Amino acid sequence: MAEVESFRDRISTVDKEGKRVWIYPKKVKGKFMRYRSWVSYTLLALLLSGPFLRINGEPLLMLNVIERQFVLFGQIFWPEDFHIFLIGTLCFMLFIVLFTVIYGRLFCGWICPQTIFMEFVFRKVEYWIEGDWRDQQALDRAPWSAGKWMKKGSKHLIFIVLSVFISNILLMYIIGSDGVLSIISDNPSEHLGGLIAMIVFSGAFYFVYSKFREQVCTTVCPYGRLQGVMMDRNSIVVAYDYVRGESRAKIRKGEDRKLAQKGDCIDCHHCVDVCPTGIDIRNGVQLECINCTLCIDACDAMMKQVNLPAGLIRYSSEEGIANSRPFTWTKRILGYTAVLAVLLGVFVLLLITRTDVETILVRTPGMLFQEVDSNRVQNVYSYKLINKTKRDIPFEFRLIDRRGEIKPVGKLPLLKSKSLAEGSLFILLDKGEIHSMNTKLRIGVFENNVMVEDFNISFVGPIQ
Ligand code: SF4
Ligand code: SF4
Repeated sequence: MAEVESFRDRISTVDKEGKRVWIYPKKVKGKFMRYRSWVSYTLLALLLSGPFLRINGEPLLMLNVIERQFVLFGQIFWPEDFHIFLIGTLCFMLFIVLFTVIYGRLFCGWICPQTIFMEFVFRKVEYWIEGDWRDQQALDRAPWSAGKWMKKGSKHLIFIVLSVFISNILLMYIIGSDGVLSIISDNPSEHLGGLIAMIVFSGAFYFVYSKFREQVCTTVCPYGRLQGVMMDRNSIVVAYDYVRGESRAKIRKGEDRKLAQKGDCIDCHHCVDVCPTGIDIRNGVQLECINCTLCIDACDAMMKQVNLPAGLIRYSSEEGIANSRPFTWTKRILGYTAVLAVLLGVFVLLLITRTDVETILVRTPGMLFQEVDSNRVQNVYSYKLINKTKRDIPFEFRLIDRRGEIKPVGKLPLLKSKSLAEGSLFILLDKGEIHSMNTKLRIGVFENNVMVEDFNISFVGPIQ
């Protein structure tokens, strides 16, 4: 048993001496490759156009951590909206866990940008210039010649151009498309920080896609490392049907494999040849498997050639393969789904109820209330208003549910777009409205007679 499982002691891309084993995955065509191509090119189109799409003049998504400006679906989020981000991140993480429990690494094979860029951009260029796996192996073994320099040089040149392009696009998600375009067009000395970030990003992408490749998935990615914790025997994965496939044996013309007591696996090695992480799926579920489905396509093609039913490698679960059991909703899945639904509900509610203006109004510390005349009491407050929109807002405060008056100290400033206004004001209340030491007041913030926000505050005064 120890020998059978020995493949788990090391990764397939490192040999016994600790040297890198370069993977030359064989080209493959098939149903899943076709579906994945559609998904990948759609996602690539979205990713590339994302920074240029605008809603109300704002980008679809921008995460400017440097200036603490975040835009989601055209809405500007401020550090004051941190709770929404926190809940959104929590929902996202829980979604990933729940999704993994049910569908294994479906994300890695179909949606992960690393897989999409590697398999549908850089690998395609490599196949185009260097040919299929055998041609690539022959080229790497061949001595350096003009033809080899030409092929290697042009491939790496295209890789560099692609890396620079991708890094610029991703940088746009941080500093915005205008920011990146001004780094490109202005004098480099004016944007030294941005330029360095661009070079570092581009270098990192070039290194990952030209050299590091599948090592990102097998040794670096934390999501890949967490699979063992999140998945169980019911998780859907790309799996080899060992019940049907074993015992594997080469095929002989015209033989009845059942009579010969052979399984359906004809030991053609095609599933291993196409694997971009260099593993043998017939060894069972492995951490290196990114569920890219290439081995499904390769095996299905082989099964068709030898007139055996397709699906020897397919989407299934360990439980499904071992006991021919269909997918079941476990208590864990139901529990995760319930928590996710609640969190998503809270997140949507927070987004819907989020206002364009956020106000903080607090009683100025150390100031006592004052009896202005025989009929009225006043308190002094400090206010801070944050304008989360792109328009300037002329604002005023009004008492909503009490008789009294609000008097700003000086003139109320104009609340400029994407900025804040601060100041002080007096709230004067009729004594008849004061029934306790702390009377609750409802205050409204109005823009041209339209209330943009309302909130409660406490008013301190003598009990009448
Ligand atoms: S085993 Fe199959 S699904 Fe997993 S990485 Fe290799 S080819 Fe992709
Ligand atoms: S491709 Fe299918 S038949 Fe060929 S070795 Fe793999 S599992 Fe067996």
